[in-house]
Amino acid sequence: MRYDIVIVGGGPSGMSAALYALRENKKVLIIEKESFGGQIATSPRLENYPSIEKISGLEFADNLFSQINNLGVDFELDEVLEIVKLEEKKFLIKTNFKQYEAGAVIIANGVKHRTLNLPNEEKLIGHGISYCATCDGPFYKGEEVNIIGDANSALQYALMLESYCPKVNMYCLFDHLFGDEILQNKVLNSEKIFINYNMSLIEYIGENNLQGLVFKNTKTGEIIKINTNNVFIAIGQISDNKRFENIIKLDQGYILTNNNMETSLKGVFACGDTIKKDIRQVINACSEGSISAINAVKYLNQ
Ligand SMILES: Cc1cc2nc3c(=O)[nH]c(=O)nc-3n(C[C@H](O)[C@H](O)[C@H](O)COP(=O)(O)OP(=O)(O)OC[C@H]3O[C@@H](n4cnc5c(N)ncnc54)[C@H](O)[C@@H]3O)c2cc1C
Repeated sequence: MRYDIVIVGGGPSGMSAALYALRENKKVLIIEKESFGGQIATSPRLENYPSIEKISGLEFADNLFSQINNLGVDFELDEVLEIVKLEEKKFLIKTNFKQYEAGAVIIANGVKHRTLNLPNEEKLIGHGISYCATCDGPFYKGEEVNIIGDANSALQYALMLESYCPKVNMYCLFDHLFGDEILQNKVLNSEKIFINYNMSLIEYIGENNLQGLVFKNTKTGEIIKINTNNVFIAIGQISDNKRFENIIKLDQGYILTNNNMETSLKGVFACGDTIKKDIRQVINACSEGSISAINAVKYLNQ
């Protein structure tokens, strides 16, 4: 099937790109491998998007999806595996199940969760180990819960979980918190959130279900074991662009773009968390999405 623009990823940047391209009457397909909304859909609260005082990440994502759906976007739930340039303004996008043709491509595939790479980790995801407190937190309503991490995602998870869990334990690698001061203050002032500093998670206990966690105190060397059926991992994100390194230039795994969101290959644009940059926030992702679409439309109309 032939599209003017195929967008890889349905997070804030991909959906914003679609919004701008659709308003220019382009035929647009978004291919999303998991669920529309990307990372922000896993966040309990978004409080730093201009003009929206407070909204859940999921509602923000739903609103954006509905906006582009009303404009006639096509979408597929599938994973993009490869992009091939056939000729000028003719790209082949290969997914798990199909192939699509496009005049231009916008890569908006974001980042993926950083894992600890401990034995059993893969096996216990969904069986006690979670990367999303918004999605899985309610399973532990009324229970004591555990979070690994010390920055914004971990702080937001802690503040959400404390609303329905009696005790939230945060385990931090260093001796202080990172992230926005406003969130740090809320966490530090909470009577339900307990912070354990200098703790490195070294082992998951459990074969089929999580039964405990083993930590090493990085200052004293002490080994501490806790019995628990849950842990939320919020230790940041990493890029996932290896599949594109044969066609576009990367730097430390992130896609290199210029101010127009053009990559090193004409006709391929990139936006959002996947590009090489310093600030990874929804507002930037949306802005870059719009820039990539405006320039993709220009490229197609040339
Ligand atoms: C818990 C949490 C809380 C946050 N809180 C805030 C906040 O309060 N304020 C703020 O501004 N930012 C926040 N952020 C950051 C913000 O969510 C990101 O900056 C933003 O989502 C980036 O958007 P994106 O579209 O570039 O990428 P993503 O949101 O990562 O979306 C990329 C999408 O592409 C899909 N995808 C990936 N690879 C493929 C492929 N090969 N084929 C098809 N689809 C693919 C993914 O499934 C995903 O849906 C938070 C992030 C997290 C994790």
